[in-house]
Amino acid sequence: MTSSAIRQAFLDFFKNKGHEIVPSAPIVVKNDPTLMFTNAGMNQFKELFLGEAPIKFPRVVDTQRCLRVSGKHNDLEEVGIDTYHHTMFEMLGNWSFGDYFKKEAIAWSWELLTEVYKIDKDRLYVTVFEGDEQEGLPADTEAYDCWKMHINPDRILKGNKKDNFWEMGETGPCGPSSEIHIDCRSEAERQAVDGANLVNADHPQVIEIWNNVFMQFNRLKDGSLQPLPAKHVDTGMGFERLVRVLQHKTSNYDTDVFQPLINVIAQEANVVYGAQESQDIAMRVMADHVRAIAFAIADGQLPSNNKAGYVIRRILRRAVRYAYTFLNFKEPFLHKLVPVLAAQFEGVFNELFAQQDFVQKVVLEEEASFLRTLITGIQRFEGYHADENKVVNGDFAFELYDTYGFPIDLTALMAREKGWDIDMKGFEKALDEQKQRSRAATTIDTGDWVVLDEHTDTTFEGYDTLQTNTKLLKYRKI
Ligand code: ATP
Ligand code: MG
Ligand code: MG
Ligand code: MG
Repeated sequence: MTSSAIRQAFLDFFKNKGHEIVPSAPIVVKNDPTLMFTNAGMNQFKELFLGEAPIKFPRVVDTQRCLRVSGKHNDLEEVGIDTYHHTMFEMLGNWSFGDYFKKEAIAWSWELLTEVYKIDKDRLYVTVFEGDEQEGLPADTEAYDCWKMHINPDRILKGNKKDNFWEMGETGPCGPSSEIHIDCRSEAERQAVDGANLVNADHPQVIEIWNNVFMQFNRLKDGSLQPLPAKHVDTGMGFERLVRVLQHKTSNYDTDVFQPLINVIAQEANVVYGAQESQDIAMRVMADHVRAIAFAIADGQLPSNNKAGYVIRRILRRAVRYAYTFLNFKEPFLHKLVPVLAAQFEGVFNELFAQQDFVQKVVLEEEASFLRTLITGIQRFEGYHADENKVVNGDFAFELYDTYGFPIDLTALMAREKGWDIDMKGFEKALDEQKQRSRAATTIDTGDWVVLDEHTDTTFEGYDTLQTNTKLLKYRKI
């Protein structure tokens, strides 16, 4: 099945169940102070959940372009290293606004996966919320009972608040969730471990594909949970992950979603994808990042020195540096991927197709400008030695930032490759001093979903990009 057919099958399935197909919202969010980029399909429906906007269609379905590079949902550090977290990805979703609830949502997700997409039932398992005493939230026995009608209870696992209580951000709609995971390990590997179906193995071939969220609460600024006026269903399935499963690949990058980009990169770099790990990572990062950059620009967010614009600039610079260091791209190249991408998304997200010349020009300009300082900056970095504790001095990190345009997370990445840390406090201090020197301070703001207090100035919030998420799954059997 091609990726286009897979996407269409999702939309058609829910259309046949009475859902209205609606367009994706832009990836850039302009009218919500708690959010910079769309990080889930439900964002555009926030007001419907909160009861603040009229419900036009009680059931909708779509594919939403999402970006998870900052704030509560930040996957940037995984991208390219693993094979299933992207910066920009499509989230397929179906919604019920005060209409159907757990029983139908669960039954339909099972039907779609096993009967339409014909995924082997023995490779699927699901999770349900185990409850949380501190918050006074009960275990989701209703979801458990619904799943029991379809799947062996052995394959229903309980998950904690971190994994099975979905929240769009620090505030906003939230509720217990039920995730569907797939075990794509080879048969031999599955047999070798514990006889057969070891679930939730911390293994790159065991991945989450779909989340069913049962929206019931609104998280308020003071941290409390307020019941929503009605109960809703909000689901999100990672399109690229689904395609990987259905095309029987072991990496999202091996699917027809990414191969057109990878092929062009490999050809131009004169390397073979799959031959060398560091080059492969660089190719994956480039293929991934260009999607984030291109869609953000097409949706109106130009790279700049602050807020959402700086997030885009950081992603672009990260890609340029990977290209330069591991694939020897000394000239601007990323922009050449824009038409490839635009052609892929014609008829899906036409915004990019329609503006590809403009997007390409912006990317080219950004690449060219960073390449002018990147090479000297890298030479400075190569000539630098971390102290005996393997820590990069904050002033030096600031020099790379200030003189050579290295976003701090890029310097941190380069440091990590050498086994070094960065003196972030020192960096921050140098940054503060510069801010004080200049009244027209440059604000770096990488957080989204942070609750902005109108009365305080936003300050540096880049640390979250440095945290590496451990992917250990922490469920226990019921
Ligand atoms: P994971 O645990 O793998 O990080 P998640 O629980 O953070 O995923 P959700 O917020 O539940 O993800 O989003 C719904 C679906 O979107 C997931 O089931 C997954 O298929 C997909 N998804 C989430 N993050 C990414 C990403 N960074 N890249 C690609 N797909 C993603
Ligand atoms: Mg995640
Ligand atoms: Mg998860
Ligand atoms: Mg999830």
